[in-house]
Amino acid sequence: MERPGYYGQFGGTFIPEILVATFDQLRAAFEGIKKDPSFWKEYQSLMSTYSCRPTPLTYSENLTRHFNGPHFYIKREDLNHTGAHKLNNVMGQGLVVQRMGKSRVIAETGAGQHGVATATMAAKFGFECTIYMGEVDMARQRPNVFWMEQLGATVVRVTDGDRILKDAINEALRDWATNMDTTHYVLGTVCGPHPYPEMVSYFQSIIGSEARDQIVRQAGRLPKRVYACVGGGSNALGIFSGFLDDTQVDSVRDPSDNHSGILRVKVSNGVELVGVEAGGEGLETRRHASRLASVHGSVGVAQGYKTYFLQDDDGQMLETHSVAAGLDYIGVSPILAAYYEQGIVRFEAATNDEVLAATRLTMKKEGIIPALESSHALACAFRETPQMSADDVILINLSGRGDKDIFTIADALGDEGWKEFITTKAEAYSA
Ligand SMILES: *Cc1c(COP(=O)(O)O)cnc(C)c1O
Repeated sequence: MERPGYYGQFGGTFIPEILVATFDQLRAAFEGIKKDPSFWKEYQSLMSTYSCRPTPLTYSENLTRHFNGPHFYIKREDLNHTGAHKLNNVMGQGLVVQRMGKSRVIAETGAGQHGVATATMAAKFGFECTIYMGEVDMARQRPNVFWMEQLGATVVRVTDGDRILKDAINEALRDWATNMDTTHYVLGTVCGPHPYPEMVSYFQSIIGSEARDQIVRQAGRLPKRVYACVGGGSNALGIFSGFLDDTQVDSVRDPSDNHSGILRVKVSNGVELVGVEAGGEGLETRRHASRLASVHGSVGVAQGYKTYFLQDDDGQMLETHSVAAGLDYIGVSPILAAYYEQGIVRFEAATNDEVLAATRLTMKKEGIIPALESSHALACAFRETPQMSADDVILINLSGRGDKDIFTIADALGDEGWKEFITTKAEAYSA
């Protein structure tokens, strides 16, 4: 049995002394809910009455016909409240906060999507909410800042350092250290110090357990491949968890965990799991966020945990780039890093151009507007269709919807009518 919170060599809890007590409390609360049989029911009930769970599994017959097979099945996380899988995690953490008797939540956000989800959860639970955001990100993501504020959150502009996500993380940690007694830090993905990777994947495993039942019922069998985009890795681990073999459990399993969860490893039943990272302007350029596909990252410790980071030889974090803000991140889940090393998940990258083409095709063929993040999974699946036979079944996790990202998508697609609209609006304001 390995050290708790480690996945192979990855993970761990690298935190300042002052936060040890609050991490102990969080870990105890999480262990408590895992052992409490009523908790998962409470969580499911909340998600089925406040969000849209179970989210549907859509058979995409037009894409299937377009590529002459395989059969495309799309898991519709875009139909969650607030438009993405992120709500699964924040609502789960909301229940944990309630059980810990705390009354305030904080979070940091880069693209703003996790901030909106957290502000939504706080409004629903009646928690006070503060969101830290770099000044540069705030300027880029004004619509999300607007919604966070309307939902009752205080958005704190971080003006230190480069004024982006990493600086917001530092500021949020400072707040937490001061207000631990009342405050919980809502982490947005399967990264950070233990127990966050395990806790977030526990909540996101609801995607995989639904998807497995649905595809067996609707397609009559398990998929040949499962595709998901990978930023931090939470939607990917969420759907993959439904297809991991329970029989070959080794070092990473926590024996007290009897939930059908994430820590049971090895590919089963010939299902191939494919994680798709941001290829940005191409892996040959430096403008991407691919840490594992053709290994551009290297192992290091930062932000409280050990994983592959995009960093230079001196451990300086590199700039990342993607058309999809949610995939633009230097680290990756320690659980996925372990799956990468163990060969359980194959990692690929999709470029901005492939992603835009996949977005267009999915809108036209299926009437579904994917988030640019999710289109990475679609783009990779489209590219690999020639490797599959016409009667194979594949499953794609559509992590979120794109219509809320109209500013980014319309820009990325270079739509002339949209440019004109924005210009007219701007003129009206300055007049
Ligand atoms: C945030 C986000 C992602 C990336 O996060 P993961 O933790 O890798 O899932 C992917 N898709 C959408 C729609 C997002 O909002």
